[in-house]
Amino acid sequence: MTSATPSYETYEHDVLVIGAGGAGLRAAIEAAAAGVSVGLVCKSLLGKAHTVMAEGGVAAALANVAAADTWQTHFRDTMVGGKMLNNWRMAQLHAQEAPERVRELERWGAVFDRTRDGRILQRPFGGHTHPRLAHVGDRTGLEMIRTLQDRAVQSGLAVYMECTTTRLLTDGDRVTGAFGYWRTTGEPVAFAAKAVILATGGIGRAWEVSSNSWEYSGDGHALAYQAGAELIDMEFVQFHPTGMVWPPGVRGLLVTEAVRGEGGILRNRDAERFMWRYLPEERRHEYAETDEEASRWVEALSEGRETDARQPPELSTRDNVARAIHTEVREGRGSGHGGVYLDISYLPPDLVRRKLPSMYEQFRELADVDITAGPMEVGPTCHYVMGGVRVDAETAASTRPGLFAAGEVAGGMHGANRLGGNSLSDLLVFGQRAGAGAVAFAADAPPAGALDEEQLRDAEAELAAPFDRPAGENPYRLHADLQAAMQSLVGIFRTASDLEAALARIAQLRERWETVQVVGLRAFNPGWNLAFELRNMLVCAEAVTRSALQRTETRGAHARLDHPDLDPGWGSRNSTVARDGEQMRVTAEPLPQLPDELRRLITT
Ligand SMILES: Cc1cc2nc3c(=O)[nH]c(=O)nc-3n(C[C@H](O)[C@H](O)[C@H](O)COP(=O)(O)OP(=O)(O)OC[C@H]3O[C@@H](n4cnc5c(N)ncnc54)[C@H](O)[C@@H]3O)c2cc1C
Repeated sequence: MTSATPSYETYEHDVLVIGAGGAGLRAAIEAAAAGVSVGLVCKSLLGKAHTVMAEGGVAAALANVAAADTWQTHFRDTMVGGKMLNNWRMAQLHAQEAPERVRELERWGAVFDRTRDGRILQRPFGGHTHPRLAHVGDRTGLEMIRTLQDRAVQSGLAVYMECTTTRLLTDGDRVTGAFGYWRTTGEPVAFAAKAVILATGGIGRAWEVSSNSWEYSGDGHALAYQAGAELIDMEFVQFHPTGMVWPPGVRGLLVTEAVRGEGGILRNRDAERFMWRYLPEERRHEYAETDEEASRWVEALSEGRETDARQPPELSTRDNVARAIHTEVREGRGSGHGGVYLDISYLPPDLVRRKLPSMYEQFRELADVDITAGPMEVGPTCHYVMGGVRVDAETAASTRPGLFAAGEVAGGMHGANRLGGNSLSDLLVFGQRAGAGAVAFAADAPPAGALDEEQLRDAEAELAAPFDRPAGENPYRLHADLQAAMQSLVGIFRTASDLEAALARIAQLRERWETVQVVGLRAFNPGWNLAFELRNMLVCAEAVTRSALQRTETRGAHARLDHPDLDPGWGSRNSTVARDGEQMRVTAEPLPQLPDELRRLITT
C-alpha cells in the first residue's frame, strides 16, 4: 500500500463509528468504556439523528404491565412478525437483552412514563402479545438520544459533526478507515481506524412518500456494498400504515402506531371498520371478535388494568394494515385526500393530549385538525428497511474484516417485517454488541497503517467532479425522478413487469447521475451533498428492486401481485446482494437453522 500525506485533516482512532443515532451512540459508549480511542462521525448535528424522531416506544419484555410477558414471548412475536425470515440468533439475543438495555438507559437518566406503582410503563403495539413498549408519551426517541448523547460526550470520545462519509478505505479485504468531507466547508477529511462501525440508518428518501428525514439516503448500505460487504433481505421495505396524507407539504409524515396502540380506530369513507376484513385467518384468534370486545380492551388499557379482552384489529402487523389501507383506497373507499380515517376522538380529550402530545400538536399545527374532536386522515408511508448489511449476531461483524454494522443499516434481525418498537431495542442491543465486537477486533488487529494514496485520490476526484462539469444533470430533478420510479414501481404491491421497468429506469438514472453538475461553493451546498446521496440511493434502489424481482412469493412487507402466496421454498432463504466488479449480484442463501427448542416456542 502506498502511503499518503494528504494536504487535509486526517485522524486516527482504534474504533471509528459512522452515525450518531441510537445505534452509533450506544456502540461508541461501549467502545469508549473499554478504554480505546473512539471517533464518532455524523453528517448532521449531534443529537439530530433519526432516532430523535422515534415516537411510540422501545420494546422489551420488562413484564411491568403484563406479568406474563417473557423474552420467549417477545422472541416468538418477533419471529412470527418477521415471517420466520429473521436471523433467529439475533431475534433471541434481542429479546433476551432488551430489558437490561432499557433498565440501563433508565440508570443513565432516561425518564420513562410510569405505572401507578412507579415502574416503567409499557404500551401495546401491533404484533406484540403483551403491552411491551416502554415510552415517554410519543417522544421516546428524544429521551433516548438525550440520555445516550449525555453519556457519550462524557466518555471522552471525539465527535466529528456535519461530516459526510463518502467512502470506506480498505487494505486488501480489510476496512481500515473512511473518507469524507465537512459539510460546513466542503474540505475533505480522512480517518484511519482499526475497526469501523456503520450506524447510518435507513434508505427511505428514495421513495416519494416517506416518513424519513433527509439523512436517510442509504449511505451506510452503499458504503458497505462498495467495500465488498454483503447485504441481505433488501426487498423488505416497510411501509408504515399511517402517515399524514394532507396537506400535500407534509404527506408521509409519521402518525405513530401509538395512536392505534391507545385505541385508534380505522374506518373507510363508508365509516366501516374495515380491519375486521383483513385479519389473516391463522391469527384471527389473537384479536377481539366484536367491537364490544375491542372496546373493553381499550377501556382496560386507559384504566391501566389487565383484561381478558383481546386486542382490536387495528393492531394487526404493519405489513397487513398497510396493505389493507392501500386496498381500501385503490378500490374507491378512501377519504377525501386519498387515505382513510383514524379516529381516537371518542376517548376523553385530556387522555388523548396526555398520551399523544406530539400527534395532537402535529395535526393542530400542520393540518388544522383537532384529533380530540375528529378523525385524522392517514395512508401508508415508506418507513423502514429490514434489509441491510449482513452481520454476525454475536459481534455485529460484517462479511468484511474490520467492518461492523448496527441499527437500521444492519439486516437480519427483523426478517420480512419489523414489529413497532423493535428498532429502538435493536439499536441498544446490537449497538452495544457492535461496540464490544469492534473493540475485540481492534485489540487483535495490527495498526490500520497509512492510508492508500490511490483510494484517497479517487475519493477526492469524486468530490470535485460535479463542479468540474460545464453542464449536466440537476441533482434535484434526478432525485424526484428516482422517487417517482420507486413509489410507482417498487411500492407496497409489486409485479415482475413493474420491477423490470424499475430496473431499466434505475439504469437510466445511473447514467444521468454520471453527468450531475452542481454550481456554487462547496460550503453548505445542498445540491452537492445530494449528489453523493443520490449515488447511494441508486445502489439501494437497485438492490431492493433486484431482490424483489428474485423473490417470487408474498411474505411480510414484500407483496407480489403475480405471486400472492407464501412459498415455503423461499421461507428458508435470505436474498443476498454483493458487488461483482461493476455488477450487482443477487443470490439466495439458506437461512441459519433454527434450533428445535426455539422452534417449539413458536409452534406451541
Ligand atoms: C417518525 C419515526 C418514528 C419512529 N418511531 C419508532 C418507535 O417508536 N419505535 C421504534 O422502535 N422505532 C421507531 N422508528 C424507527 C427508528 O427510529 C429508526 O429505525 C432508528 O432510530 C434508526 O436508528 P439508527 O441509529 O440506526 O440511525 P439514525 O438514528 O438515523 O442515525 C443515523 C446517523 O448516521 C448519520 N449518517 C448517515 N449517513 C452518514 C454519512 N454518510 N456520513 C456520516 N454520518 C452519516 C446521521 O447523521 C445520523 O447521525 C421511527 C422512525 C421514524 C421515522
